[in-house]
Amino acid sequence: MDETQRQQLAQLDHAHVWHPFTPMRQWREKEPLIIEAAEGDWLIDAAGNRYLDGVSSLWCNVHGHRVPHIDRAVKQQLDKVAHTTMLGMTHEPATRLAARLCALAPGELNKVFYTDAGATATEVAFKMAVGYWYHRGQRRDTLVALEGAYHGDTVGSMSVGYSATFHEPFDPLVFRVERAGSPDVFHECGLRIAECGVARRWALEDEAHVQHVRDAAIESLDAWLTELDGRVAAVVVEPIVQGAAGIIVQPDGYLRGVADLCRKHDTLLIADEVATGFGRTGAMFACELESVEPDIMCLGKGITGGYLPLAATLCTDEIEQAFCGELDEHRTLYHGHTYTGNPLAAAAANASLDLFEQNDLLSVVNEKAAAVAERLNVLRDAGRYPYVGDVRQKGLMVGIELVPPGERGATGFDPSRRLGYEVADGCRASGIIVRPLGNVVVLMPPLAIGQANLHRLCDVVIGRIEQLGK
Ligand code: PLP
Repeated sequence: MDETQRQQLAQLDHAHVWHPFTPMRQWREKEPLIIEAAEGDWLIDAAGNRYLDGVSSLWCNVHGHRVPHIDRAVKQQLDKVAHTTMLGMTHEPATRLAARLCALAPGELNKVFYTDAGATATEVAFKMAVGYWYHRGQRRDTLVALEGAYHGDTVGSMSVGYSATFHEPFDPLVFRVERAGSPDVFHECGLRIAECGVARRWALEDEAHVQHVRDAAIESLDAWLTELDGRVAAVVVEPIVQGAAGIIVQPDGYLRGVADLCRKHDTLLIADEVATGFGRTGAMFACELESVEPDIMCLGKGITGGYLPLAATLCTDEIEQAFCGELDEHRTLYHGHTYTGNPLAAAAANASLDLFEQNDLLSVVNEKAAAVAERLNVLRDAGRYPYVGDVRQKGLMVGIELVPPGERGATGFDPSRRLGYEVADGCRASGIIVRPLGNVVVLMPPLAIGQANLHRLCDVVIGRIEQLGK
């Protein structure tokens, strides 16, 4: 694309496009980065510059870009049919995919309801849970979610994953959800672990401290569920890692404890695996890491290898059966979206699952995760990296939290300093795309990233963090 075309596109973008999660006034003060193509781990802009995709195009790319096997599958499907509704009919790619997802999923998950985004996958999960109890003759009006949870931006998912910074203007719309203290809350002193004088990861290496934090969080949830007896439709969790909260890794045993409490209090467990699913944490689904079998599981992002919009909400036969009956019983789940189970997206998802099988991707992820952990260990050196408060990692989900120098245990800067963006902008100038969550620099490369590219990602990010304040 020549300079004139690029300028024209920039003008059109500034004139007409409203970008997600983007401060638009500031966006329009800068030249937009216009991506024109991609290849493997790399995105290529309209001027031909190459950028390593360090956030997997928002946590969804798995095998890299323009993967021949997935490209072929989508093209072959395009020669058959691009879209057909799933209301009242079906098609091969979505049907085969449903069977494969059920075979892979933990526990008894045996039914798949398709949607097209993580937020819509969670929305339908909430309706499945509340509807399940309703059809069993119980009006359960409460969902329990973790502090700092994020489940998407539709009104229901926003209510369950509420963040004051993002959602306060919409308070009149959100419904009430009961909050359980996430294990990131240090119950004894009422502070987040980060505020207890030691940074989180380093605090969490102290086994006794970990157990204390975990047990306190589980006990408080137990007490909560006792108090809400008979009212809770489901407990909703991002298993093992709370992504948007800042890549908060739960202590070992926490998820198991939550699952046990759901059984004890006879309520459902909804696992939102939109971010953690499809290998991110080193297991196909994060629930497997603690042998947890949720009643409902939400999938999105990596389901198509990061190619096309598709999401799925899996549930047990028992839950689905609650919505079956005679027509005059009105049990049908009246919920659906136009592009539900789109054939092109389902074809991409099937091809992505083929590659998981062919490439033994999960064991490779664990090797790469170990390499990243080793590289990031250097950030513990407070003299050299005074701005690093914590490094959190599970599989290829990494969050590096920046804090004011000399205050390793503090919870971060005034957000107006936008230090996460300072690092991300510096990385971009060196040909790396990363996107921060506030003052947490997030690294989430495609699972199939090449070794050399992975090391380049670490080199550039570490280098940029070292430059902070200089
Ligand atoms: N759930 C979790 C755990 C997420 O991390 C996200 C997005 O980051 C969502 C749901 C929402 O997904 P989407 O952006 O596809 O609606």
